[in-house]
Amino acid sequence: MQAPSGMKTVLLPDGERVPAFGMGTWNMGDDPAQRGEELAALRFGLDAGLTLIDTAEMYGNGQSESLVADAIAGRRDEVFLVSKVLPQNATRHGTALACERSLRRLGTERIDLYLLHWRGGVPLAESVAALEALRVAGKIRHWGVSNLDLSDMRELDAFPGGERVAANQLLYNLSRRGIEWDLLPRLREHGVPVMAYSPLEQARLLKNAGLTRLAQSAGMTPAQLALAWLLSREGVIAIPKSGDRGRVRENLGALEFTLDEAQLAQLDRIFPPPRGPQPLEML
Ligand code: NAP
Repeated sequence: MQAPSGMKTVLLPDGERVPAFGMGTWNMGDDPAQRGEELAALRFGLDAGLTLIDTAEMYGNGQSESLVADAIAGRRDEVFLVSKVLPQNATRHGTALACERSLRRLGTERIDLYLLHWRGGVPLAESVAALEALRVAGKIRHWGVSNLDLSDMRELDAFPGGERVAANQLLYNLSRRGIEWDLLPRLREHGVPVMAYSPLEQARLLKNAGLTRLAQSAGMTPAQLALAWLLSREGVIAIPKSGDRGRVRENLGALEFTLDEAQLAQLDRIFPPPRGPQPLEML
């Protein structure tokens, strides 16, 4: 997979480069009436260089993965494909079965990055062993986690193969900066990227008056400013979701902007960074 020119990239711990900007697919594929436009939006994004696609077995009970399969048909090698196993499936055997189901729905022989969606009742060591076995078998190229806090990451490191964790997908946007206190610095220290989910706070962020004013003065839309801020962070991959071509185009526009020190300082005033440890937030 080749990142397009102009696309910022992020290093995975094994040295592979992946795009710092991709496409989310939660709530896509569920409504037959929306399917045509959603497919067009994903293909438009792919054509424009948004080659990292995030999905999960949970999304629409597999419907999102099926939609992604249609979007990437005939161009699998252009794509860095991310999917996730539900925690209740993440046993030694259950992970392998869930992965096979996802591969079938996605119409591919490999997933590039396979994440444990969140931590559930299955011992973390068992899930890690199952993910590592899938990697060795070539079903997945990398594995990672999602919604895991600092204490979980410390635990993970102690397991055999735990050091192979390739990413932690976390709720991270201007209005959710809690991870900046200790989790993000630790992940950076270990060279583990953060995949920032709900980067627009599911569009709620776009109503913020301060963000809107600053975006206007910078000649950007609020969505572009929120995404440009994430792109300014080291080791962060943003995965906004849109099922609309116009909004995918708008979001892509964030790549054209580099925020200066004054703009970053203004954003810190509107959305202050954490002043102490905070419990991990998730949606
Ligand atoms: P998001 O990307 O912050 O926001 C998506 C919402 O914003 C959609 O309703 C979309 O509507 C709208 N939107 C997108 N661009 C817009 C724009 N320029 N102007 C106005 N509205 C816009 O939220 P998200 O979908 O929760 O997060 C992104 C992805 O992260 C997900 O799709 C999923 O892949 C992943 N995720 C992972 C987890 C996890 O636990 N690991 C949790 C949540 C999400 P339209 O589609 O109509 O444009």
